[in-house]
Amino acid sequence: MTAEDYSGRVDELFERQLRDWDTVRDNYAALDGACLRTLELDDALIVLQHNPERRRSAAARLDDTSQPCFLCRDGQPAEQEAIVWADRYKIQVNPYPIFPRHLTIASLDHVAQSLASPTRIADMLALARALPQYVVFYNGADCGASAPHHFHFQAGIKGLMPLCDEVSDPVMWPYETHLEGNRTGFVGCTRCQGRLLFYIHTNNEPQAAIYFARLYIAMLGVNEHGREPSLNLLCWVDGDDYHLLLVPRAKHRPACFGTGRGKLLVSPASVEMGGLWALPVQDDYDTLTAQQVSDIYNEVCIDNATAVAIIDHFLTTEKTLPL
Ligand SMILES: [Zn+2]
Repeated sequence: MTAEDYSGRVDELFERQLRDWDTVRDNYAALDGACLRTLELDDALIVLQHNPERRRSAAARLDDTSQPCFLCRDGQPAEQEAIVWADRYKIQVNPYPIFPRHLTIASLDHVAQSLASPTRIADMLALARALPQYVVFYNGADCGASAPHHFHFQAGIKGLMPLCDEVSDPVMWPYETHLEGNRTGFVGCTRCQGRLLFYIHTNNEPQAAIYFARLYIAMLGVNEHGREPSLNLLCWVDGDDYHLLLVPRAKHRPACFGTGRGKLLVSPASVEMGGLWALPVQDDYDTLTAQQVSDIYNEVCIDNATAVAIIDHFLTTEKTLPL
């Protein structure tokens, strides 16, 4: 696994794509001028971003296989470049950004969105190390991924998702939130303004992968549909420390999903769980309240009883899984 820092190569990729690709130049310029508004949920911040270009992503029909896959080379514009990473992924500029630097990191192969293979989480941790200025994130196939048939991560430049700063504060993790810990770190569980969170913080990369694998297996254990547990996952590296923020999901979209009176065009995914809401509809951006955000978090995240069942499974899993 490569440990090389890819920051310089990614910066150069952005320079080339902003110069040579009109869609990228236009959409990053539009994002630069996008309106932002802040909501306060007690001790948590939510940032709203008016972003009309995200309409296609928020409203995507996930069962639509009539179009060519936009993560396969044949489905991509001629201008789209890639940096190959670890012989298995291509790092590309996301042409419909939420972040001023927004990457899509797709498998070179057209295979389904799933973290079931242990190499995926190891890859995610290594990617976060290769891109130390970014938060790498993963949307499960039924919780925000716009290409559920082609495995991919995304990455956004750090500093825009308030939750990543909030969970990094040890004050949020008193001892009673810890499920397990050792001298290298801990895994904890808490609810933050409707979001039920599992958080892994450790300076030991294999330990981070083991904690995640145990949580994933625990979620499978309480899951009735037999497929990958519904989840959003954010991962970043800060010095020697690895942070993994796992948000199990109960629902893909809230009941109010849609357009028109009383509706909201948002398909909550990792970025929204991180506290940044990209809203394509002007009226949604103008009128969304902190209470609505909290209600949607409560609706699409798991309840306490499910969390307790996951924790029970977690505490009985082997502490050293073969990875
Ligand atoms: Zn594909």
